[in-house]
Amino acid sequence: MSTIQSINPWTGELLKELSPTSPKELEQKLNTAQKTFEDWKWVSLAEKAALMHVAARILREKKEDFSRIISLEMGKVIKESRAEVEKCAWVCDFYAGKAAEFLIPEELNLPDGKKAKVIYQPLGAILAIMPWNFPFWQVFRFAAPTLMAGNVGLLKHASNVPQCALAIESVFEEAGFPIGTFQSLLIDSPTTLELLKDDRVKAVSLTGSEKAGAAVASVAGAQIKKSLLELGGSDPFIVLRDADVPTAAETAAKARMINFGQSCIAAKRFIVEEHVYEEFLEIFTQKIMGMKQGNPLDESSDYACMARPDLAQELYNQVEKSKLMGAKVILGGMKPNSESAQFSPTILTDIPASAPAFSEETFGPVASIFKVKNEEEALSLANATEFGLGASLWTSDLEKGEKLASRIESGAVFLNAMVASHPALPFGGIKKSGFGRELSRQGILEFVNHKTVYLG
Ligand code: NDP
Repeated sequence: MSTIQSINPWTGELLKELSPTSPKELEQKLNTAQKTFEDWKWVSLAEKAALMHVAARILREKKEDFSRIISLEMGKVIKESRAEVEKCAWVCDFYAGKAAEFLIPEELNLPDGKKAKVIYQPLGAILAIMPWNFPFWQVFRFAAPTLMAGNVGLLKHASNVPQCALAIESVFEEAGFPIGTFQSLLIDSPTTLELLKDDRVKAVSLTGSEKAGAAVASVAGAQIKKSLLELGGSDPFIVLRDADVPTAAETAAKARMINFGQSCIAAKRFIVEEHVYEEFLEIFTQKIMGMKQGNPLDESSDYACMARPDLAQELYNQVEKSKLMGAKVILGGMKPNSESAQFSPTILTDIPASAPAFSEETFGPVASIFKVKNEEEALSLANATEFGLGASLWTSDLEKGEKLASRIESGAVFLNAMVASHPALPFGGIKKSGFGRELSRQGILEFVNHKTVYLG
């Protein structure tokens, strides 16, 4: 890898060229990580928490600078970048406040009167391979619990957000974490896979595509190292006939368009009972048409562009193939310029099961709308996907909603709300959406040794 380019996807302008981490620097960083871990693991939780609160404060103080870097590097509109940075501060404060409670040893009383304990101890250097879509949030939701548990972090960020990677490292440095507690590595994928084989790296967490997940988990498996995978989704958004349709449709538009559709938990397939289908489609379409496109740095922009031109092209190919297979285009569907990351929000209906808009993840502002006869058909369509991340279900009958939620194949179901991550809620998927959980108590217990101590 010669240089790493930071490019503004809205203008195509080269923002900065950065030198990749050299093999010598990588070796030094690994040694530092290992050395730091030997001390960091014994630092009291109170001291760790104090540092994590400082990290949260720095995020808030420098919110404008960080938001600008995010918007410039990956095209998110500035108001969403600010919300992202605030959420990072929240997750730092959350784990600073909760880690002691989450890591309390579990006491076990055995049938023969003996006692045992399960204590939770850190593993060492954990590698985080992270994507560009929420370039701060994805990293902080990994880093806050992982560092509080006593591990140290090594970040391989997506190649199109190198300035974000360095800015995140600077937060931990400035907060006063010991050097080596959290380090960013500007390396490519092949180097990352080699790094994962190094004995000093103990486990890996990846958020990204199925392809990247399979490659990383295979190497981790061959090395007998734990991996956590947070991959794609094709989340259903189910609207039953007894739902509050205007609220559902308005929320649906937001759930599809947030981050310009580039979110694993964005609602992607809208499954609507026929009695309320026309009403839903009308409001949903109007809402999307009412959103304003503009420069990501413009306060009034609701959306800007995709993170890279190739992502816009890939999404268009999915739309085009679906169209050729019989899907109807209600809105958008225009071919993007091959050099540009811009994309027109698109709504598809009458989508055949063989079409990409039915069976694949559409990682951008493309909504697939399905009309169904009843709840049973809605459920079977919701589950007719190889993914299983989140699902949103709308009904005025919560008891029925809970029963139906238990039959949806996903890591989370939100009733009468869009799927969203929250520091206190476990986050992760089943099927091809991955395995393991981030956030909440489950998240901090992923990268620790659950050590049994028998008191004989
Ligand atoms: P990738 O999955 O390719 O990238 C995510 C991260 O994984 C990046 O840091 C990337 O590095 C790294 N990576 C990719 N391949 C490997 C590998 N073989 N070994 C080690 N690391 C690897 O995402 P893309 O940017 O290409 O986006 C493509 C699609 O992925 C999207 O359209 C979407 O479907 C899905 N995606 C899902 C996300 C989610 O939140 N679940 C987030 C982003 C993408 P590098 O950038 O250097 O290639």
